[in-house]
Amino acid sequence: MTEKLSILGSTGSIGTQALDVCEKAGIKVAALTANSNSDLLEKQARKFHPEKVALSDEKAAAALRLKLRDTDIKVLAGRSGVCECAQQETADTVLNGIVGMAGLEPTLCALKAKKGLALANKETLVAGGSLVMRTAKENGISVLPVDSEHSAIFQCLQGMNKKAELKSIILTASGGPFFGKTREELKSVTVAEALRHPNWSMGAKITVDSATMMNKGLELIEAVWLFDVLPSEIQIVVHRESVVHSLIEYTDNSVIAQLGVPDMRIPIQYALTYPERIPSPVRRLSLAEYGSLTFREPDYETFRCIDLCRRAIEKGGLYPAIANGANEKANELFRNGKVSFLDVAELVEAALESVSSKENYSLSDVLEADKAAREFVESHVR
Ligand code: NDP
Ligand code: MG
Repeated sequence: MTEKLSILGSTGSIGTQALDVCEKAGIKVAALTANSNSDLLEKQARKFHPEKVALSDEKAAAALRLKLRDTDIKVLAGRSGVCECAQQETADTVLNGIVGMAGLEPTLCALKAKKGLALANKETLVAGGSLVMRTAKENGISVLPVDSEHSAIFQCLQGMNKKAELKSIILTASGGPFFGKTREELKSVTVAEALRHPNWSMGAKITVDSATMMNKGLELIEAVWLFDVLPSEIQIVVHRESVVHSLIEYTDNSVIAQLGVPDMRIPIQYALTYPERIPSPVRRLSLAEYGSLTFREPDYETFRCIDLCRRAIEKGGLYPAIANGANEKANELFRNGKVSFLDVAELVEAALESVSSKENYSLSDVLEADKAAREFVESHVR
């Protein structure tokens, strides 16, 4: 059970919910970080009294230093400041809720400082999976999933006798706001429509990833690394209600699921209290209230990102980093009105075909592949 936590990305959707969990569970806060939101970070710092805070944006950090000058909280700046917070001595655990590749180095910093790691930042596990898992192993740390599907699988696996008895993992997908739509109908969907997720309130990037279903592709790769399974051992099923958070199948065809109302505070809390469980502020699940739960095959032809990610992890090496980097850029361009919804998958596919990969990679290889994929996407849009 976590006693003192550092939260990276504390001003975001995961970060603010993690602070809510800390408050209710009595978990102390050692350090908080964000990118540029100095107003909210100041409020959080005054309420939770961390020893250190950091903003990656240097200007915003300078403003925060002024705002907090009447306190003894140390204000750090830049990427090194975020890493210093990830290594804050008084914390036993780090929750990484940063969005995107910016979370990779902080994750490695936390692991090297032998902190327990509750990981929401899926992009970096997708891009640098072998690097992250190797660093975790070398430092004797197990990476605890925060993503609801992976938390569900992790919870189901608690009853496993031996790995050989696990046959497959079944990831559930809400299907996002555009489930059931044809490619023709998707040609003209707007950013506002893509941001209207039926079940979850999340940051803009992951909400758009849910609409393109890239999120499920990223989660497939995330599961390969977290649970050491082959891509072919992972199935995906659309489950509109987001109540069954994921399932595992054993060799005897027995299937175990984890259920709950869609509220991230359950998986966040479990990653922080594991292996214990404590009461939670989240609403109890009433199955009778739902009445029925539905399950369907994904439409892989329309939502092409899932298969692009499957292909990327099957090919291995830096292909997942290329898929992720291209998607981060394409997702941003879509949110800024620069490309259409269907362009996102096209750009990810084109980047996978053009940017070169290699089998064994270092941190600088991952960062280079990420940069090359982003530049590829940008040059194809201009
Ligand atoms: P948000 O956009 O809501 O929050 C992102 C956080 O990261 C903010 O605190 C932001 O700071 C900070 N940040 C952004 N860019 C940088 C940077 N360059 N350097 C340092 N910090 C940065 O995202 P979410 O909370 O929705 O998602 C966070 C992660 O969790 C993602 O990887 C997502 O896929 C994953 N996840 C999220 C779920 C959810 O329910 N939201 C569910 C499952 C997984 P600032 O506010 O200053 O910009
Ligand atoms: Mg998820």
